[in-house]
Amino acid sequence: MRILKDRNFKNGKDKIIFLGTAGGRFSVFYQIRKSGGIWFHLGGKTFVIDPGPGALVTALKNKINMSKVDGIFLSHRHLDHCADINSIMESMVISGKRTRYLFAPSAALDEDPVVLHYNRDKFNILYLKEYTDYAIGDLKISTKLTHLHTTPTFGAVFKSDSYSFAYIADTLYTDQLAIDYRADVVIVNTVFKNQMPGYMHLSANDMYKFLEIFKPKILILTHFGMGFLNESPHLVAKEISQKTNTNVIAAWDNMIVELENI
Ligand SMILES: [Zn+2]
Repeated sequence: MRILKDRNFKNGKDKIIFLGTAGGRFSVFYQIRKSGGIWFHLGGKTFVIDPGPGALVTALKNKINMSKVDGIFLSHRHLDHCADINSIMESMVISGKRTRYLFAPSAALDEDPVVLHYNRDKFNILYLKEYTDYAIGDLKISTKLTHLHTTPTFGAVFKSDSYSFAYIADTLYTDQLAIDYRADVVIVNTVFKNQMPGYMHLSANDMYKFLEIFKPKILILTHFGMGFLNESPHLVAKEISQKTNTNVIAAWDNMIVELENI
């Protein structure tokens, strides 16, 4: 596995691109960081996770061919995760005839829908449920516990025969996260540096408890709130790395993680 600092990746390799690393209202809606979620290629499939505000523009700037995206994984219906979902869906179906998939919780599809009905016809829509395994060709997607957040929220482990990564979306900390989300690479939405009573979000500080139970090959922090950004997430990640003897990285916008040789 390599972290690439430039666009010099070879096409076709399994990789993850961060289309944004902002989380929470201030850093997203002032666009202190970008907020387009995560694009990945794994097991022959290409997906976008949580396309927040600006996802389409950032994807195009990263030279991503949207008509080759197979699916979208939407963890929950908050705007910093879903604001661009309709634009992304439309861009995926402009050309080509591949089968497209949308994974989303019922709260985002039925109760207070964020996906336009006219956009749904060309997609296979799969409702996210906890502890459920899905397979799209060689890509396996396994949901875990329902997260402790203000609306039904799901993360997943994404796996091929060669690599795996976990995406831990917005949630309060429980030890079950470290039991469930076991993968080579763990990506975690840490809005805060330290726990903030009254907010149902993870903090970087929670990662000490997580890493006592499970150490991935690399832990990537993302989805940073304004307060955390003011504390320099890369320094916080470095401190966690040193204290836990784990490779911990604070993601940056347009960061590419190329999965190989794990
Ligand atoms: Zn949220």
